[in-house]
Amino acid sequence: MELGSHALQETLRRLDRAFQAFFRRVQVGQTPGFPRFKSSARFSGFSYPDPAGWRLFQQGPRGGTLRLGSGKTAMMIRIRGRHRFAEFMPNDLPLTHRRNHASGEDQWYASVTLRVPVSACVRQRTGEAQVGIDFGLAHWANLDEGHQIENPRWLREALPRLADLQRQRARKKRGSHRYRQLSQRIVRLYQRIADRRRDFLHRQTSALVQRCALIATEALAPKNMSRSARGTAQAPGRRVRQKAGLNREILSAGFGMAHQMLGYKAAEAGTRLHLANTRQLKPSQRCSGCWQLVPKALAERMHACPHCGCTLPRDQNSARVVLYDAWTPHDTPGTGVAARPKPLSANAVKLRSKTRETPTTAGTAQWRESS
Ligand SMILES: [Zn+2]
Repeated sequence: MELGSHALQETLRRLDRAFQAFFRRVQVGQTPGFPRFKSSARFSGFSYPDPAGWRLFQQGPRGGTLRLGSGKTAMMIRIRGRHRFAEFMPNDLPLTHRRNHASGEDQWYASVTLRVPVSACVRQRTGEAQVGIDFGLAHWANLDEGHQIENPRWLREALPRLADLQRQRARKKRGSHRYRQLSQRIVRLYQRIADRRRDFLHRQTSALVQRCALIATEALAPKNMSRSARGTAQAPGRRVRQKAGLNREILSAGFGMAHQMLGYKAAEAGTRLHLANTRQLKPSQRCSGCWQLVPKALAERMHACPHCGCTLPRDQNSARVVLYDAWTPHDTPGTGVAARPKPLSANAVKLRSKTRETPTTAGTAQWRESS
């Protein structure tokens, strides 16, 4: 296939950027490496910088075609799925190339950027619910009124399978045929889990945003997420590394992704997203009935308050606490009505819970499809 002139221009622009960066570093007295010649094998891809030379066709509810070039030399790429914008302008189209080192497969990714009017990004909201959520590992989500959203079955089944494959591989000689075969299977399983997990998160977050006027949850603290298997010096956990790896890459990645999706979807639907400050609020230690702190170990799955007698499953109590935090006036985040021993220091103000409410929606939306 021949490339259009604009794609070639973009390649020159990249060369130009490389040299400009080089001379800028020389000027400030650094010793940069001279920009190296990039053979086609070193090129990570190319780009259509504007809507010329390619076209996107949407066909029916779940498919489309991407046409690169024109006339007889045009290349047609089928696309699964659908973007949700009726009015849009195509903007640009970078195509990137990645070689999967484990499997040796070549993969190309086309990333279509659409220019979409803000009004087209608005999401329909059908409910006015106010929901507190505690995201977790045992269940994907625990809601304040007691309902739980399970981790999907395929994920629960895939994780032990993945660990098993990795154990098998660890017994093989590095670089051997068997080792490579197992690597391929691990990579494919990883990708399949990641794809299905993303799909699951999209569905769940869309459904939540659609029915809620307020969603309250803890702000993300990545450090808290991957420590589960380690245990203590007295009682070390088992297979810490493997388990931590799985937690980190699959479950925790899911939390980050879920938060990000909730963020932009809430903005599009006009849903208020309240992110409580975990360290100030301590949702797992605080009683949702009387707002006192009730310390408990991680293993204690029930919250039973000695002060007011409130008894709830631990995670449901946490979900209620973040929801009530969203209701309290925002000059006293995470401290509630009863407990506020001393005024917040200037430092503490920075750590405050954040409420995100309908910011202006970005003008472009990215839509990614592998081809
Ligand atoms: Zn209580």
